[in-house]
Amino acid sequence: MVLGHFGFGLGAKKFAPKASLGTLFMAVQWADLLWPTFLLLGIEHVNLRPDNKKFPLEFWDYPITHSLLMSLVWGAIFGFIYWLIKKDKRSALVVGICVVSHWVLDLIVHQPDLPLFPGNAPKLGLGLWNWPVLTAVIEFSLFAIGLLYYLRTTRAKNARGKWGLWMLVILLVVLHIAGLLSPLPASSHAIGWAAQYQWIFVIMGYWVDRNRIV
Ligand SMILES: [Zn+2]
Repeated sequence: MVLGHFGFGLGAKKFAPKASLGTLFMAVQWADLLWPTFLLLGIEHVNLRPDNKKFPLEFWDYPITHSLLMSLVWGAIFGFIYWLIKKDKRSALVVGICVVSHWVLDLIVHQPDLPLFPGNAPKLGLGLWNWPVLTAVIEFSLFAIGLLYYLRTTRAKNARGKWGLWMLVILLVVLHIAGLLSPLPASSHAIGWAAQYQWIFVIMGYWVDRNRIV
């Protein structure tokens, strides 16, 4: 899931209007922002299965970024740091929930590969990726609802706030579709480098949000 996560981040602005969209994006995507770096460092592992069209990536070892327990821990850390900096309890809570939302949304689409906790833990996943069309409908719906919330909560201060947001939306949709159509990278190392592009959305989130008002 990609667009669905960003949709959750956009929608969260309604509940934490003081938090920047960049922070909300970083929170909802924290697991996937960290994961490629952990692949590069050899802390987490993925198997490539070019023979398997529906599940070309076998996520057999990613307990620090993608276990339920660790997403709760990351959520608590995120919320606490946010509170330390901004002293805003409500926004801190929303930011923390955003971090945990990643695991819950991944649970819908993944095969049963999401561990409850690091170590020898049961793994969960409802496997919606078995139905790619239904998955796309759900992802795009989540994204559209989140965008609607964001548009209702904020308005552009200037041209950058207006066109920047649409640039961000188009880039997210185009890169999401490109990701679905592009061939499998050659190695997990290649994935680790390629997936770093997501940081662009965090940076753009801060930039767009600065040019809009609640
Ligand atoms: Zn994920």
